[in-house]
Amino acid sequence: MSKVYLTGAGPGDMELLTVKALRVVQEADVIIYDRLANPDILEKAKNGCEFVYVGKEDGRHIMPQDEINETIYQNSLKHENVVRLKGGDPFVFGRGGEEADYLYERGVKFEVIPGITSAISVPAYAGIPVTHRGVAVSFRVVTAHESPNKKESQIPWENYKTDDTIIFLMGLHNLPKISKKLMEIGKPKEYPCAVISKGTTKDQKVVVGTLEDIVEKAVDMPTPALIIVGKVVQLRNQLQWFEGNS
Ligand code: SAH
Repeated sequence: MSKVYLTGAGPGDMELLTVKALRVVQEADVIIYDRLANPDILEKAKNGCEFVYVGKEDGRHIMPQDEINETIYQNSLKHENVVRLKGGDPFVFGRGGEEADYLYERGVKFEVIPGITSAISVPAYAGIPVTHRGVAVSFRVVTAHESPNKKESQIPWENYKTDDTIIFLMGLHNLPKISKKLMEIGKPKEYPCAVISKGTTKDQKVVVGTLEDIVEKAVDMPTPALIIVGKVVQLRNQLQWFEGNS
């Protein structure tokens, strides 16, 4: 009886893979993986394991989601141990829920192996805690990738007036709109924010700025990148530990 493991690959640093994820990768007959999953993980697979690339990045899918779903399903008919390896956590903007549902509808057994999401770990590697006593009591993780067909923003901007930390994934191309909207709802133009690119890897880059100047400062940042907005960003002055240390 075959089983599909919907597996989080973590944010980039190979050592942020869970012990459970490593085990299923080592036992896999086929690994269906994304652009965001660190390719070094594939080297842990056994001899003869097949690899299927269904790359996608920043919401621009190279293979449409319904084809990915079908690819996973077809592989479950051929192989016993199927690993679907996804960047970060499979259920945090990973469409892992849709993949699980597709398998459920077809009676295929699956397990979910949560991964360390970039939303929290990438700020951590930049020395930015997403919550901090007296600074931010909660955080939100938001997709900033919006369908180009929709004129109206789906993001409930009015909810973002508090000092909660906001982490925007898939949003780099929308940074001008994000900073403008946050100032429109009343955040001061000197409000702290940062863009973190290729977080947790040796190519990690961080720029810190304000809502007013972040667009200009982050202009050359490569993807994948996330945007973090909040007073916690200032803690990086004391807590930055990774860059120059790896
Ligand atoms: N399931 C993933 C997120 C998928 S959405 C997770 O839990 O991490 C893809 C977005 O995640 C990217 O557009 C980017 O905003 C963010 N991201 C993923 N890996 C990243 C990294 N190493 N550094 C910065 N941002 C990253």
